[in-house]
Amino acid sequence: MKKDLLSMLPDELEQELLALGEAKYRAKQIRRWLARGVRRFNEMSDLPKALRDKLDEAFVLYRPRVISKQVSALDGTIKYLWELCDGNAVETVVMSYQYGNTVCISSQVGCRQGCAFCASTIGGLVRGLEPSEMLDEVLFSELDSGKKISHIVLMGIGEPLDNFDNVVRFLKLVNDPELLNIGMRHITLSTCGLVERFDDLAALDLQLTLTVSLHAPDDETRSQIMPANRGRGVDALITACRRYFEKTGRRISFEYAMIDGVNDTERHARLLVRRARECGAHVNLIPLNHVEERRFKPSTQGHMKAFMKILDEGGVNYTVRRTLGSDVDASCGQLRRRIEKELATTT
Ligand code: SAH
Repeated sequence: MKKDLLSMLPDELEQELLALGEAKYRAKQIRRWLARGVRRFNEMSDLPKALRDKLDEAFVLYRPRVISKQVSALDGTIKYLWELCDGNAVETVVMSYQYGNTVCISSQVGCRQGCAFCASTIGGLVRGLEPSEMLDEVLFSELDSGKKISHIVLMGIGEPLDNFDNVVRFLKLVNDPELLNIGMRHITLSTCGLVERFDDLAALDLQLTLTVSLHAPDDETRSQIMPANRGRGVDALITACRRYFEKTGRRISFEYAMIDGVNDTERHARLLVRRARECGAHVNLIPLNHVEERRFKPSTQGHMKAFMKILDEGGVNYTVRRTLGSDVDASCGQLRRRIEKELATTT
């Protein structure tokens, strides 16, 4: 089996080169080519031909293919659907903000967490992405769009903490000056709350931003819309958040998608105030994106206003997430679903 070169950390690649009887500094040269999107050893023209041949025998490099690229006429948001080496597909979104360009990447093909409002989980989990595949989502989005990427959010398809080792490796690769040179403080990892992984993440002391998809402050509501809550519970989640904050000094954010009649009552708002205060969390309110296969509707303006008033009175820091790319299937998982359905009806 040939090894996946792009998933290797710099020192691992150096060791591989030494084992092939080559000089360590070649690793840097190779990674510079990779950063430019070159995925054929033969095109790495400053490497001797004999080395290129050796690399070809020992390692494999893949290149994702663009299946579709949609550009929002409203705000320039770009949504890519990539085909991976085994025919699977994932989505990546590039959004422009005043502070720079953010790429939203997928961490798995599909998802097994089963959130009731989410399109990504409908077909279940197919597999986790390799570090190289996540890296290529960023690299090729940047190369294709011509937009320099300054921030990364792991909020696309999949649950990053369910693909822990590969995600951590990806984060280390992103940091590499030869590749993307994006600092941890510019990276946000979003989780549905796999609490058993929080300590592992905190122990790595990565200085990234951890965002928790809370969506409900009580077990009854949360277990109903997020099966990942069952057997874990909101109390354990809040305790894990507090411990993460204490260990890393990094404030956690709660994502809260406002769903009509489900999690948007005044009782929920009051409980959310308590939960946010218990662990010093910032709250991101998100108007629910309508998903065709799901029965949920976004909250009304009136309910959102009443909800925000209670957060204000409770002294909770919150922002209302701007919706970008609403004309390009921006809610994650929707594009992949649509293409899958189209394929299913044509084959
Ligand atoms: N698995 C991770 C990251 C992927 S989803 C997580 O659960 O956090 C990224 C965010 O989009 C999560 O907060 C998720 O709950 C939210 N989301 C999913 N479907 C949505 C929808 N229809 N409307 C609004 N937000 C949604």
